Formats: sequence, structure tokens, C-alpha cells
Amino acid sequence: MPSQINAVHPLSPSQKTSGSGLVQVTFRFYEELNDFLPPVFRRHDFEFACPPDAPVRHIVETLGVPHTEIELILINGASVSLEQRIHPGDRVAVYPKFEAFDIRPLLRLRPYPLRNTRFVADAHLGALARGLRMAGFDTVYANPIADDEIEHLAEAEKRIVLTRDRELLKRRGITHGCYVRALTAEAQLEEIVRRLDLASSMRPFSLCMECNAPLHPVAKELVATRLPERIRERHSRFSTCDVCQRVYWEGTHWQKMRGRLAALGAASGQETTTGTGEAA
Ligand SMILES: [Zn+2]
Repeated sequence: MPSQINAVHPLSPSQKTSGSGLVQVTFRFYEELNDFLPPVFRRHDFEFACPPDAPVRHIVETLGVPHTEIELILINGASVSLEQRIHPGDRVAVYPKFEAFDIRPLLRLRPYPLRNTRFVADAHLGALARGLRMAGFDTVYANPIADDEIEHLAEAEKRIVLTRDRELLKRRGITHGCYVRALTAEAQLEEIVRRLDLASSMRPFSLCMECNAPLHPVAKELVATRLPERIRERHSRFSTCDVCQRVYWEGTHWQKMRGRLAALGAASGQETTTGTGEAA
């Protein structure tokens, strides 16, 4: 990752501030947040010259870390909001989502989880969007989709933004977002399920993977004429999407996807009446 710090900021960390009007603040970023920093700043304390009274959010994003990736900021040991102003000599510690360390006594930056887990994925994450729909999570996806539209959907419909574009996550209208690290669709789905702890709220095969609309059971007689002969003979349960009219049944592809979701922790043993995996 190339360092852009000197290009966007007047001082490198080694320079002094006297007479410059800037103030020296000590930063330390933890765990995977280091991946967003220029290498010289990773995994150790460093001093950084900041405009006086700048909100801490502005400084951490200047350093390359989108605010959506941050779970907790401590200044001089006290948890603060993103808008907290920094002062000379402050020590700022920035943490990602904790997995093993209970921070409940401290202030989380986003104390309110979004009530319904809904997503908007950027144009590069189509396969992930389909996987999330398969798991039952309402996910808007379009290609192309403008950044403004993503921000609007995030704000207006309280959707979590999924992207590999960290600049997008710096937009103020986006309060909840995930920088997706994994590169394959399968690994991306696993990453999001683990990061957001979604296993217990999956509702596999309740949404159409193509258009994100609800699936509902449909009597075989009503769809029989649209089914291939061998499917009509072998299957008795079907579901359909009112938007695209696709018919779904519990074929081998369905079983494979069911196995994938079970491996991610989706409830097993519960039979859905809406199967998917093969469409007519
Ligand atoms: Zn559909």
C-alpha cells in the first residue's frame, strides 16, 4: 500500500510542530486496522501532526482507516466519539471489532446495531450479494450503481454497505459498513457472517437470489407446466418469486448450498418450505 500521508498532510511523523500551528498526537492502531495504514505506521506507536481541534475521525481517515472499520477509540484511556477533538499530547488508541475482549463497559462508536440486517453491496460484489440473499439477508445489488446511490440507500433504508472501496466507507452518510477483505465469494460470505455474527439470524432460501424478493411456497399443479419432466417426477415441494417468476426446488444445487450455510452455522434440521438452488 503506497503511503499518501505526505501528499495529504503537511508533516511527516518525524517533523516537529513548533511554529507550524499543528499539534503532535500519538496514535496506535490495533489488529487488522493496521492493514489500512502506510507500512511505516503499522503496529507501533507513532506521532502524527494534526490540525488543532480536528475531530479524531478526520485524522484516522486521513491516515487511511475508514470510520466504519473502527469499533472503539480511546483518547488518553477514555472512550470517545468519532467527533471528539484532539489536543496536543493526546494518546489515541484505535481498535477494530473485538472478538475476544469484552468492551461492553466502554462506549462503542455505534451503540445501536441496525435493527434489521440489510445490505447494499457495491457493483463488484455480485456473488457475495447472491450468497447473502441465499442466507436470507435483504441485499440490494446492481451493476452499475453510483456511490451516491449506495450512500443514499445506506441512509434512507438503514443498510450496511459492503465494499472493497475504502473511500466509499469514508462518506459521512454511511454509518454502518464493512470493508470486505476476502477475494472469493465463498470466503467473503464467511467473512461477513463471522464479522457481523449472522449465523443465528440466517433464514436460508427465503429470498430470491436473482431479485432479492421473498420466496413463497407454491402448489406443484400451479407450476407443473413450467418444469422439466424429470423435476416434476422427482420433487414435490416448490417455491416461487413473484417478481421474476422463477420456480425453485430442492435439487442437488440446493443441497450443496444448504451444506455451505450449515458450515457457516445456519440452523440445521429445520426444513424450510421454500427451497432453492435450481430455477425454471
Ligand atoms: Zn426473483
